[in-house]
Amino acid sequence: INLCIFVCLAYGDGFFLEVYFDEIYNEKNMDRIKIFKGDITKIEVDAIVNAANTSLLGGGGVDGAIHRAGGIKILEGCKKIIAEQGGCEVGEAVVTTAGQLPAKFVIHTVGPIWYGGNDDEKVKLKNCYTNSLLRAKEFNCKSIAFPNISTGIYCFPKDLAAKISVETIKNHLKEDTEIEVILVCYDDENYQILKKEMEN
Ligand code: ADP
Repeated sequence: INLCIFVCLAYGDGFFLEVYFDEIYNEKNMDRIKIFKGDITKIEVDAIVNAANTSLLGGGGVDGAIHRAGGIKILEGCKKIIAEQGGCEVGEAVVTTAGQLPAKFVIHTVGPIWYGGNDDEKVKLKNCYTNSLLRAKEFNCKSIAFPNISTGIYCFPKDLAAKISVETIKNHLKEDTEIEVILVCYDDENYQILKKEMEN
């Protein structure tokens, strides 16, 4: 915005051009998607998303970090869901309390393992983002933070995952006019890739 104001002051006529571009940017809802580099367990939002596995019993990576920081209440919530429906399928999303985390809810979704692209991985990853956003809406969440699902232990190519995440979220924001989304990048490679993706 500062840069925009500077350009407007410096170029006078450029004002209308800048405002016009700003409106297009907002029409695409890009002002409601942000990227952040850091630890998702520290973020104060209505819901954080966990890249879980089908057992819902916790694991490594971001899943381990969320269970460690959030405490036993999250695992208890997961066990209740396991008793009701036996776990969570790839691409689906379930909701528990966030325990001791600053968020209100944890939305657990199961990303696809990358098998070279021959196992509908792209559709499954898209479903993770869509279903998590739908759960967030059901629980009246106005803000949600995602990790870069499947790009760790599950080896999904990071550039392709970034494209799918931004596209899917952008599409969802056309329907959901309230929610704000933060894409949390833990590693610098994902952060740089997403920064580029957002600039596009
Ligand atoms: P998956 O099995 O879906 O690949 P991982 O947890 O191995 O899940 O990795 C998913 C992404 O989460 C990776 O990009 C990894 O760098 C990131 N990650 C790991 N720990 C955290 C954390 N505390 N906060 C945010 N992202 C994290």
